[in-house]
Formats: sequence, structure tokens, C-alpha cells
Amino acid sequence: MRLAMLGPPGAGKGTQARLLAQELNIPQISTGDLLRDAARRHTATGTEARRYMERGLLVPDELALRTVVERMGEGDAVRGFILDGFPRTRAQAVALDEMLASTGQKLSRAVVLEIGDEEIVKRISGRRVCRNCGAMYHAIFDPPRNAELCNQCNGELYQREDDNEDTVRMRLEQYAGKIKPLFQYYEEKGILIRIDGSGPVGDVHRRMLDALKGGAKPA
Ligand code: ADP
Ligand code: AMP
Repeated sequence: MRLAMLGPPGAGKGTQARLLAQELNIPQISTGDLLRDAARRHTATGTEARRYMERGLLVPDELALRTVVERMGEGDAVRGFILDGFPRTRAQAVALDEMLASTGQKLSRAVVLEIGDEEIVKRISGRRVCRNCGAMYHAIFDPPRNAELCNQCNGELYQREDDNEDTVRMRLEQYAGKIKPLFQYYEEKGILIRIDGSGPVGDVHRRMLDALKGGAKPA
């Protein structure tokens, strides 16, 4: 299975990608996580990416693509993968297809999680992430046992720098500005699945599994 998860910030892409990736034993590849990690390590890519991320802007296509290509090169994605937050523009989708085609592969499905603006704000404002293992929590919907520590590895939980009101507004604008051509691209290919992303995590997961079983043909 080779999936791309689309949807607005806070829709639950990371949460659902992580669950499914664990079940299918394939990697979850999050460009956001990779870029944040590069920024933390002060690599050239990370330093450039940070300038966009802290303002809520998309990083340039070339930078996002380079990040994915490098990660894919690690070899564990040969049996499949779940892309989380990539592609975000039509140009990225075209580049992804070209990259996959060069090794005789193609994307199985593009899954979009749909959720309302009010829910987005609630989810983002409560998001907490483990600095050590990347596990995701929500202060209200999925609180950790200790507000500051990860249940799984005891790592420190933090609130993302870009999860503030102004940046979120910009990220939503960026999403709205780019998403239509991307949807159209995958609709034309017949691989776009729209999932209702509202309600508890388990419900969304089941909806995804049903939709994928109902017609996801291995690419
Ligand atoms: P995205 O990757 O799309 O930005 P996340 O997966 O990081 O979204 O989810 C954003 C926040 O919402 C996290 O704190 C997560 O724990 C929480 N969350 C995700 N899915 C749900 C859900 N179905 N119900 C309630 N909270 C959720
Ligand atoms: P995310 O973790 O998916 O919410 O992404 C956080 C930020 O990383 C975004 O606001 C962008 O600045 C950047 N980013 C992540 N993925 C991409 C992408 N595919 N294209 C451009 N920018 C991206």
C-alpha cells in the first residue's frame, strides 16, 4: 500500500498515518516531522525550512521533495509507505508520481481527511507531541497520564511553535490556496478517497479501513 494523507492542519493525518503504518508495518513519512527534525539539527535544509514554517508558509516544492526523496532512499519504503503531509501542491504530486514511476511504482490512494474549521482549532490548540518518540496527544481528547511526559517513553511533551493562532490562520490559508488543483489531480487519476475526519480516532480509523478495503487496489 502506497498512500498519501491529505487534509488541513490538525485534521488527524499524523494520528491516522501512525496507526495505519503500525498495523501494516510500513513507514509513516511525515514531511513536517522530517523538516522539524532538520530544523532542530540546524542542517542547511532545516535552517531554510524554518524560515517558512515559523510563518505558517509552505516550504518551496523543491525543498519538500528533496526531503521526501532522501527519506525514501533509506530503503524501508520498498514494501509501501504512508506519506503524511506530502504532497501539498500539484507540482509535488507530479514530482512524486515521476519519482515512483522511475522504479515502476505508483501511488495506491490519496486519502483526504475532511473536518470543519471549529474542530481544527480545537484539535490544534490541544496538540502535544513527544520530543523523543513523536507520539501525539491531545490535552482534552487524548490526555497523557502526566501532562508533561509521554506515556510510551517518558519523553518531554511540547506544543509545536507553529500551533499558535496567527500561524494556524496562515497555514489554513495556504491549504485552501493549494488544495483544489491537488484534489483535481488525484480525482482525474481516480485514486482520491474522502474520509469524514470528525469523531473519535477509532471511528476515523475504521472509516479509513472500510474505504481502503472497499476499493484500494494495490498499485
Ligand atoms: P495533522 O497531522 O493533520 O496536523 P494530528 O494527527 O497531529 O493532525 O492531530 C492534531 C491533534 O488532534 C492532535 O493533538 C491529536 O491527538 C488530535 N486528534 C487527532 N485525531 C483526533 C480525533 N479523531 N479526535 C480528537 N482528537 C484528535
Ligand atoms: P505539518 O507537520 O504537516 O503540519 O507541517 C508543518 C509545516 O512544515 C508546514 O506548515 C510547512 O511549512 C512545512 N511542510 C510540511 N510538509 C510540506 C510540504 N509537503 N510542502 C511544503 N511545506 C511543507
